[in-house]
Amino acid sequence: MLNVGALLTMQEAQARVLERVRTLAAEHVAVADAAGRVTAEPARSVVDLPPFPSSAMDGYAVRAADLPGRLSVVGHVAAGVPAERPLGRGDAMAISTGGVVPDGADAVIPIEYVVNYDNTIEVESSLAQGKHVRPRGGDARAGDVVVEAGFRLGAAQLGALAASGLAAVSCARRPRVAVLATGTELARPGEPLAPGQVYESNALMLAAALAAAGADIEVLPVVADDETAHRAALERGLEADVLVTSGGVSVGPHDLVRRIEAELGVEEIFWRVAIKPGKPVSFGVRGLTLVFGLPGNPVSSLVGCELFAKPALRALQGLRDPLPRFEPGRLAAALRRNDSRDELVRARARVGPDGMVLEPLSGQESHMIVHSAAADALVHVPLGEGELAAGATVSWLRLGAA
Ligand code: AMP
Ligand code: MG
Repeated sequence: MLNVGALLTMQEAQARVLERVRTLAAEHVAVADAAGRVTAEPARSVVDLPPFPSSAMDGYAVRAADLPGRLSVVGHVAAGVPAERPLGRGDAMAISTGGVVPDGADAVIPIEYVVNYDNTIEVESSLAQGKHVRPRGGDARAGDVVVEAGFRLGAAQLGALAASGLAAVSCARRPRVAVLATGTELARPGEPLAPGQVYESNALMLAAALAAAGADIEVLPVVADDETAHRAALERGLEADVLVTSGGVSVGPHDLVRRIEAELGVEEIFWRVAIKPGKPVSFGVRGLTLVFGLPGNPVSSLVGCELFAKPALRALQGLRDPLPRFEPGRLAAALRRNDSRDELVRARARVGPDGMVLEPLSGQESHMIVHSAAADALVHVPLGEGELAAGATVSWLRLGAA
């Protein structure tokens, strides 16, 4: 793979992160609490689904062989209340959607096709056997896999698990993530800014992004650029499965994070990646703890989180395909390429006549978090000469994916 000077490419850096991830242990999770969790084992149906031959319509359960013909209506089957006796020849039973098709019946004629006159129905056409009957086990058989291992449980999966009679499911434990913002200049929103201060935004932003990817977050108190304070806070953060810091990973005299982490036994796997924004990102490990040092500029932090920290969280949970899902789309406007780094350009994605169209936003500098708030996409502009023309096909990533 292309290596740009001493800097890793985005893909190389992502591969080095994933190499260090060990999937977390599984635990039983009540299906009612399992939204957003990732299955650790295949979940298998407890029952046949439907559990009985079930009517797909409101109508009359009949024997297809009796039709066409005149039938006597001998009873009514409501959902949840099976008939007490089988259906005899020449008989029909009124039945509701979801009702148990009685023994002897093999089709349902919809209510709108017949007139019930004095408990007799006259059916003028024939009906195929099985028509409007949902066979037992037609969706799943007891023991069939309902959700495979390594999938995140969304609404459809939770519905399937519940329908299959599962009360609990085996999922990877949620990763515990400590988030630590560093910087003497950081003030808390709601308090007045003293000279030289800026409001702290990264911890909240990273906590939200990482929680959406399934993490159990602890936001540590902000630390000043002071060695003792860093040591104490980083030591605490290193007790988590993942420590994500912001700030203090550049080359200035107050950038202490990597040095103090090294003192605390963190093995640095990489520092600096050929991307813009986010170049000074660092990654290391201490035992099984993964340690991400995201740059302080808020947009750099956000991009580093999407490209490196979130894939690690997905892999910790055993999710298949943990890497960011870049998709093809077309550029609405030309973009200049950077000759030494891949760029991640904030853009707005909209549905076009033939696929997604990406509109790059103004204000691409790495401190411009307010400009970034209008973006829902990152466009990947590979390093190179010249520009990508309007209409060019590019890879883009939806911001905020789980
Ligand atoms: P650093 O990476 O520590 O050199 O910080 C780079 C820039 O990002 C500086 O302008 C910092 O003030 C700013 N910055 C660092 N951390 C944060 C944060 N948590 N929230 C907002 N801005 C920050
Ligand atoms: Mg700083």
